[in-house]
Amino acid sequence: MGLLSLGTPMHWDEAKQYADHVRAHGIIQFLNLWEATKNSQKDCLLWGDEIEYMVVSYDDENKKAKLSLRVWEILQELAKEEEEAANDPAKKLFVNSSWHPEYGRYMLEGTPGEPYMGLPRDLLAVERNMKLRRELACKFMKPNEVPVTLTSYPRLGCAGEGLDPHHDPHGPAARSLFVPDDIINAHVRFPTLTANIRRRRGAKVAINTPIFHDKNTPKPFIDPTIPTFNDYPEDKNAIEQGAALPDHIYMDAMAFGMGCCCLQITFQAVNVEEARKIYDQMAPLGPIMLALTAAAPIYRGYLSDVDCRWNVIAQSVDDRTEEERGLKPLKNSKYRIAKSRYDSIDSYISNDPSNKPEYNDIPLVFDEDIYKKLSDNGIDNLLARHISHLFIRDPLVIFHELLNVDDNESTDHFENLQSTNWQTMRFKPPPSKTSPIGWRVEFRSMEIQLTDFENAAFAIFIVLVTRAVLSFNTNFYIPISKVDENMKVAQNRNAVLGEKFHFRKQIFPQSRPGTPAAGTPFGSPKLSNATLPRTAPAAQNNTHSNTSGGSLAPGLDRSDEYELMTIDEIINGAPSKGFPGLLGLVNNYLNTLNIDIETRCEISKYLELIKKRANGTLMTAATWTRQFVQNHPEYKQDSVVSDRINYDLVKMIEKINKGEVQVPELLGTFSV
Ligand code: ADP
Ligand code: MG
Ligand code: MG
Ligand code: MG
Repeated sequence: MGLLSLGTPMHWDEAKQYADHVRAHGIIQFLNLWEATKNSQKDCLLWGDEIEYMVVSYDDENKKAKLSLRVWEILQELAKEEEEAANDPAKKLFVNSSWHPEYGRYMLEGTPGEPYMGLPRDLLAVERNMKLRRELACKFMKPNEVPVTLTSYPRLGCAGEGLDPHHDPHGPAARSLFVPDDIINAHVRFPTLTANIRRRRGAKVAINTPIFHDKNTPKPFIDPTIPTFNDYPEDKNAIEQGAALPDHIYMDAMAFGMGCCCLQITFQAVNVEEARKIYDQMAPLGPIMLALTAAAPIYRGYLSDVDCRWNVIAQSVDDRTEEERGLKPLKNSKYRIAKSRYDSIDSYISNDPSNKPEYNDIPLVFDEDIYKKLSDNGIDNLLARHISHLFIRDPLVIFHELLNVDDNESTDHFENLQSTNWQTMRFKPPPSKTSPIGWRVEFRSMEIQLTDFENAAFAIFIVLVTRAVLSFNTNFYIPISKVDENMKVAQNRNAVLGEKFHFRKQIFPQSRPGTPAAGTPFGSPKLSNATLPRTAPAAQNNTHSNTSGGSLAPGLDRSDEYELMTIDEIINGAPSKGFPGLLGLVNNYLNTLNIDIETRCEISKYLELIKKRANGTLMTAATWTRQFVQNHPEYKQDSVVSDRINYDLVKMIEKINKGEVQVPELLGTFSV
C-alpha cells in the first residue's frame, strides 16, 4: 500500500500548462493498454466492496463526539498487519483486508484482502469480512475511538471543539470558513487537489443544500453561524456575496463532499464487451440504489431537505469556470460543461444491439482531437466518445517527477483523468498490460450503511443483479436524460417512498418475452460464456456506425418503453403489470442455481432487507437518523443538530453495531 508516494505537485498555474501533455500521453497509454488487453478473457467472477469509515473520538466527560485526525497512524499499523499477513498464511486469515487512505484525515477505506469469488457460498463471506475489517480497525484505535460508517458527519464544519486534536478553521488549500486544512489527508495530493480545484474554478466551491424547515426553523433561513474572515477577498461575506443562499445550508470546501463515506462495488467481467454491457445495464440503477441506500440527512449541524450526499459532493469538487458553467460567454474556456466532474454518467457505451442511439440523448461534450486519435487507432464510436468525454477535464494534480513516463509501461496519465471523473459508474480497464486483473466495472452511487449487515446486503444484492442481468440478458435501457431526472429526485427527502422513477417496462429481450433463459450459475465460467449473447466486436456493430461522434441521436420516440414507477415496484415487482422487479430477477436467477438450502436461507436474509427497505416496512438510514434527531429531548424543532444530539447519535450507532440495541424499524428482526 503506497501511502506516501512522494513527489512535488504543481500549483495550478503550472499544472495547466501541462494539461495537454498529460491528456496526449494519457491517450497513448490507454491505446497501449487497449492493444494489449482488448482480447483479454477471464473465466470467473471476481468482485469486491469498498467500505469507508470515519474515526470518531469520544470526549465522554463533555458528551462530545469528535472526528479523530490520527487516522494516519492507524493506517500505518494496518499496513504493517497487511504486510505481515502477506508472508504468513496463518495470519492472513485474521487480516484478510486491505486498507487505503481517503480524502479526510479522519477517514479509512477497507476492502477485502482478496476479491470474492463467484460461488454462492462466497456471498456469505461478505458480512464476515466486513466485520473482521471493523474489528481489525478497532484494534489500532484508542479506547475512546470508534470506526463509524456514517455517510455524512452531522457536525463537520461546526464551530467548537469538533476535531481531535482541535484546529481552528481556515488554511491555504481550501480557505474554508468552517474547516481547517488539517482535516484533509496529509498526503500532498489531497491538499493540492483541493487548492487546484479552487484555483481552476476561480473561486471557492459553493455548496448549498436545502434546509429542512421544521416548526421553529426561521423562514427564510439565513444561517447565523456563517463567520466572516478578512484573510481572503472571497471570505468577506458569503451571504452578501451570494455564495450562501437563503434557505440553504452553505458549505465552502471539498471536505464537505469528499469527506463523505460511501459503499462501492467492483466486478470483473469476462471480457471488455461484457464490462461495457454491465456498465450500461447498471447505470439506470444508480439513482434507484442511491434513494434506497439514502443515509445522509444532516450537514454542518442542520437537518437538510435531502437524504443523500450526491449533490453535496458534486458541488464540493466542481472545478468548472464560470464560462464552462454557462454563466459567461466562452472566451478562455474551451467548452460549456453541463455537470461537475463528480456526477452521473453521460453516455452508454455498450455495442449490444439493444443500446439504441436514442438512449444517448444528452448532448455529449468531448475532445474532438482525442476522439479522432482514438478512432484512428481502431476504437469504436461509443468507447471513443466515452474516453474523449472524460478527457475534456484537466488533470488537477501533476507531479513533476511523473511528468515524463514510459507510455508503454505506465498508465499514470490515463489514470490521472480517469480517477478524477467521479461518476455513478466507472469502466475500469486492467491496471496494466501485464496485470492478471481484467476489465472491471464499478458501481458507485450507494451510500454507506450504519451496519455491516446492511452493507453486506446491498453489496450482495448488487452483485446478484449483475449475474441476473447477464443470465437473462435483461434490457434496462432508458434515455440517459431520464436517468439524470431520476438522479435529481433520488436525493429528495424520503424519495424511496415519496418519489417515482423512470424505469423500463419490458426488461426481457423481445424474443423471449417475460421468460428468463436458463441462469448463469454464479461464477461458473462455462455458462457465463455459453448463455451470454455477446455482440461480436466492431464488425457486427452497425447500430451506431453512422452516428457521428457527439451528435444527438435521430429522434425515434421511445417514450412508450418506460414509465414512472415506485421503488417498491422497481425492486419488488408489479404483478399486475407483469413486471418482475429486480428482486424477482435475482430470485429467479438464484432458483436456477443448485444452492444448498442453508446458503439459500442465508442469502434470503440479506435480500429480505432490500425488499423491506423498498416497500417501506423498514426505514432508510436517512429516515431513521431524522427520527432520532427529532425525538431527541434536546432537539428544538429548529433543524439544529447539536453537539449532544450528535454524540448520542454516534453512541447509538456504535451500540447497534455491537448488537447492544435492537432497532427493528431499521433492521427488522435481523440481528447484527
Ligand atoms: P478504487 O478505489 O480505484 O475503486 P480499490 O482498490 O479501492 O479501487 O477497490 C477495488 C475493489 O475491487 C476491491 O473491493 C477489490 O476487492 C476488488 N477487486 C480487486 N481485484 C479485483 C478483480 N480482479 N476483479 C474484481 N474486483 C476486484
Ligand atoms: Mg478505493
Ligand atoms: Mg474510497
Ligand atoms: Mg472505488
